[in-house]
Amino acid sequence: MNLGDDLYREIILDNYKSTRNRRALESPAFRQEGVNPSCGDDIELYLKSDGEQITDASFEGVGCSICIASANMLCNAIKGMEVTQAEELVERVKGMLTRNETPEFPDGAEDLEAIQGVAKYPVRIKCALLSWNTLHQLLDEVRSQARSGD
Ligand code: ZN
Repeated sequence: MNLGDDLYREIILDNYKSTRNRRALESPAFRQEGVNPSCGDDIELYLKSDGEQITDASFEGVGCSICIASANMLCNAIKGMEVTQAEELVERVKGMLTRNETPEFPDGAEDLEAIQGVAKYPVRIKCALLSWNTLHQLLDEVRSQARSGD
């Protein structure tokens, strides 16, 4: 193990223990459940938006450290983003974990590099991607509501 692994492990643990984003958002909010039966991860992701801008994000549920840490990083990263920026971030995370791409994350999302090591463990990739796949579904809803509101 090298220093990078230690640092990444610490970042994952910090995000796992953080409770700042672990809450339900009052309506009107978008919500979507994400389940990963192979591990037992079961989360509920909440978003609030103003048009196509994400104004708040949070989650509830149970999951392993990778799943919860990844969901917490997601919430921190996407607050204030436009739907298109959040979609791009989803693609970068997927690229890092499933296509071995070198990640380039925007300011405020650098913690995500810490889950890169998960790519070596196929079983855990689903844990890390659960919240991102759930977000992907919610972004479609945010966008269609923003368009119908025009
Ligand atoms: Zn898991």
